Amino acid sequence: MSHNGSDYPFTRQAADQVRETGYSIEALLERRGFQPVRKRALERVLGAIGGAIPDQPVHPVAELLSYPLARLMVSCLDDDFLTRRYALAEAKLAGRRMKKEDAADLIPLAQDLDIHPVRRRDLFELHFAEYLKAAHRMRSPKWKLVNRGLRKGKVTVTQDELARLLEERARMRVMRGLPLSVPEDICRQLADYTREIGAELVAIKADRFPDLGEVAEEAFPPCIRTFLSQVTEGVNLAHTARFALTSFLINVGMSVDDVVALFNTSPDFDEEKTRYQVDHISGKGGTKYTPPSCATMATYGNCPGEDDLCRRVSHPLSYYQKQARTKLKKS
Ligand code: SF4
Repeated sequence: MSHNGSDYPFTRQAADQVRETGYSIEALLERRGFQPVRKRALERVLGAIGGAIPDQPVHPVAELLSYPLARLMVSCLDDDFLTRRYALAEAKLAGRRMKKEDAADLIPLAQDLDIHPVRRRDLFELHFAEYLKAAHRMRSPKWKLVNRGLRKGKVTVTQDELARLLEERARMRVMRGLPLSVPEDICRQLADYTREIGAELVAIKADRFPDLGEVAEEAFPPCIRTFLSQVTEGVNLAHTARFALTSFLINVGMSVDDVVALFNTSPDFDEEKTRYQVDHISGKGGTKYTPPSCATMATYGNCPGEDDLCRRVSHPLSYYQKQARTKLKKS
């Protein structure tokens, strides 16, 4: 049994199918007949920037071939934010398709992604080491190995959970090798497409960098600046860093909505959960939290190194207040 390569174009099986078609990159770039492939490749990347790759009916061959072409487009732009976002969107598209699959159809797909589940009635059993290959990136406690019934080295998961693990494996597979080193002349041939993608990228980045309104971003201490740029690049922050960033932003006057929107780049973004956490930190439950002191930040490895002003304060919020005051005087 095999899975459908065009539905999961990042699989080894799909790569074999692409090879079997025998088409060259040049043909894909130049031939008029491949226009739908180029169009779909562009749609994949633009969709990823916008938040989701549309899953409309496309000829299976165009769907299959558009994936390697989209990878070339992403690679020519060589932008970390785009690469992460693209890999995430490909994984999410695959995840939506997996939801429509029968349980049995997930097994060959899993195998292609180096996970070997065994079906036990409605559930799946997998070796804990394989489980961890994907679950180690999941944030929710339910994925922690200690919270799973581990029996003889095996972990049991539901079909939905297996699909979620495969989605994460898919994201890792798409990320692998990106950005590819693409010869310059190929990037030149793709210039019409990459220009359009680049413009979209600039627009979305401008949008994503939160409009902090009254909040004086240039007065942020080095720790908060570091977290902020990591989050906007889609890096998953450690729990302590996430807490420090959230409580800091809330304390300097950013709204819950804006903070939630800021986190909408993590691979496992869960709006409901994030909103709950941000609400909690902002004092909805009765206590408004403040960020940890510099000493605590340093203990958790969250202080990237002090600058001059850091040496005169013991709390990131004091840094902000002093810096904002100085900036205000200068302006
Ligand atoms: S010294 Fe304090 S304010 Fe400065 S970077 Fe470290 S934690 Fe942040």
